[in-house]
Amino acid sequence: MHTPDAVLAARELLCNLTPLKTDCGRLCAGACCQGDEETGMLLFPGEDALYSACTFARVIPADFSLGGTKAQLFVCSGTCERENRPLACRLFPLFLKFKEDGSTKLRMDVRAKAVCPLTDYGIRALDSEFKQAARKAYDLLLEDETCAAYLRELDEAFSL
Ligand code: SF4
Ligand code: SF4
Repeated sequence: MHTPDAVLAARELLCNLTPLKTDCGRLCAGACCQGDEETGMLLFPGEDALYSACTFARVIPADFSLGGTKAQLFVCSGTCERENRPLACRLFPLFLKFKEDGSTKLRMDVRAKAVCPLTDYGIRALDSEFKQAARKAYDLLLEDETCAAYLRELDEAFSL
């Protein structure tokens, strides 16, 4: 599958932005990058095509699908070429929540609670430029049918 334009555009929007204006990794020694061989970030639909020759991570197929797209995990070595980090890393610790009326809202990712000290302060503590770019990135993804279905089922998976 080729990488959808929406995924490329969303990645670009968040290329140079981070949750805080300062380096939040100094608060936690970069906790969200300290995974292990079993831990990975979920790639967005078609994003795996960007990593066929990646030298700092492996893409591992997961044993589940989201919105009809087979999920793929990105398992890195704990450092990366920043301009090549996956979209999930660029959006972290934000998550897109679907409301009953079909509208959506940015939330802190429940999966971030165990690792990210920013979750203690809530979404209001995050840099507004970062939040605006994330909102715009999600809006672009929602315009893409495959990505929208993926995001919806991801939210459902974490709402059970
Ligand atoms: S865990 Fe949270 S505070 Fe630490 S580097 Fe990641 S986003 Fe920043
Ligand atoms: S790809 Fe980069 S930003 Fe993402 S978890 Fe690995 S080191 Fe951290």
